[in-house]
Amino acid sequence: KNFEEFKFNRQILNAIEEAGYTEPTPIQSKAIPPIMNGQDVLGIAQTGTGKTAAYVLPIIMKLKYAQGNDIRALILAPTRELAMQIDENVQQYAKYTDLRSVVVYGGIGPKTQIEQISKGLDILIATPGRFMDIYLAGHIVTKKLQVLVLDEADKMMDMGFMPQINKVLEIVPKKRQNLLFSATMSEKVERLSENFLLWPTKVEI
Ligand code: AMP
Repeated sequence: KNFEEFKFNRQILNAIEEAGYTEPTPIQSKAIPPIMNGQDVLGIAQTGTGKTAAYVLPIIMKLKYAQGNDIRALILAPTRELAMQIDENVQQYAKYTDLRSVVVYGGIGPKTQIEQISKGLDILIATPGRFMDIYLAGHIVTKKLQVLVLDEADKMMDMGFMPQINKVLEIVPKKRQNLLFSATMSEKVERLSENFLLWPTKVEI
């Protein structure tokens, strides 16, 4: 098993090679094909399993190159630490493309974050509260959004982000690809996936 089987483009394969990955992890083997097919996916996987690359690589493949100024992929994460880590991964895997990513989170002023968004971007990584704050201030256009990811969805619900997530769902285009990753499968996650995902493929490791 190697990464060639996924039909990634040369830019992505080069980045994977440079990262030193020789073979996909189990969650990558299971999640990448349905995500590349455009399906909604429910992924049950902990941090440390390679789950970030499992959704970031197909997103890079789907968006391909920089286009316009508005977000086309939005990745929501529960904490500043995870959001920053996801952004580092995006930068690493997209380094041979011209795709632009920005990460926003609370705990610091929004000014620099808004300036970065205003320069144009393709992928936004955000904590839910800060995303809604910047959106409501009028600095984010969601009409070009193609992919929405909820990472560590169980943790986002435990931290009380459900109201913000529900608001996000109201302001994004109806026709989009949804990816939900959670470390655990609970009744809450089940209910969220019923509201959020359309005919999902469930992958577990
Ligand atoms: P994650 O579960 O996304 O937080 O990833 C955990 C770690 O695994 C990160 O440091 C990644 O760089 C690394 N990683 C992701 N995919 C692979 C792979 N296919 N082979 C080796 N390491 C990987």
